[in-house]
Amino acid sequence: MRVRIDREKCVSAGNCVVTAPTVFILDDDEKATLLDVATVDEDTLRVAAELCPTEAIVLETDEGEQTYP
Ligand code: SF4
Repeated sequence: MRVRIDREKCVSAGNCVVTAPTVFILDDDEKATLLDVATVDEDTLRVAAELCPTEAIVLETDEGEQTYP
C-alpha cells in the first residue's frame, strides 16, 4: 500500500500523528509528512486515513490505484 498526503488539505489536526506516530509527523509548516509507512499494518493506515477530518491522507495500492478516500 502507498500513502500520500495532500498538503493543501491538511489542517494540522494531528489525528494521524496520534494514530500512527511512527508513520506521520507534523513538519515545520504544521503539515503532516511521512516517516516510515512500513512500521504499521494496513489496517492502521486505513484508520489514520479515516480519522483525518479533511481526507488529506490518500491510500493507493502498490500499482497506484487510489483506494481511499
Ligand atoms: S489528520 Fe489529516 S489534517 Fe490532521 S495532521 Fe493528519 S493529514 Fe493533516
